[in-house]
Amino acid sequence: MIQIVGIGGVAMGTLDGLAARVARDLRESCRVRTVGIDPEFAFDPTRGQYHSTAILRHLAGLAAGDRLLGVAAVDLYVPIFTFVYGEAQLGGPAALVSTHRLRPEFYGEAANGTVLAGRLLKESLHELGHTYGLRHCQDWSCPMATSTAIERLDWKGEHYCDACWGQLA
Ligand SMILES: [Zn+2]
Ligand SMILES: [Zn+2]
Repeated sequence: MIQIVGIGGVAMGTLDGLAARVARDLRESCRVRTVGIDPEFAFDPTRGQYHSTAILRHLAGLAAGDRLLGVAAVDLYVPIFTFVYGEAQLGGPAALVSTHRLRPEFYGEAANGTVLAGRLLKESLHELGHTYGLRHCQDWSCPMATSTAIERLDWKGEHYCDACWGQLA
């Protein structure tokens, strides 16, 4: 079972849509928790961002035997990077993604729910893949490839490559 929890005001419709697509891609049941998480404990007033690893640790404490994916509306960072799209625990149980920099509006483009949902799926598959023990993939069209820029994320497909899928199964 994969559980999804909203962090800092993500629309329920976004989470429900993601859950359906994650369940289909990973062939595992996926449900959305009705109560979200307030991320204020992880806020860094100097950076104006939220500490990804602190939220991830919090999620791990809430996983309760399931895999738990947090979907945050707020901007995430780890100290060595300007920002992160997400973070995960290699071998599980917790994963975290942020929609903040996945929105076309962040890049000065018009809002587009389809684009956002596709990017959110790919980034979620990436971080969830880490919880299953997958490492980064050399195939740029695979969700497990690294992505440090939104263009790289957009080049990815919405399904794991054969090699990564083989490791999952
Ligand atoms: Zn990664
Ligand atoms: Zn791959």
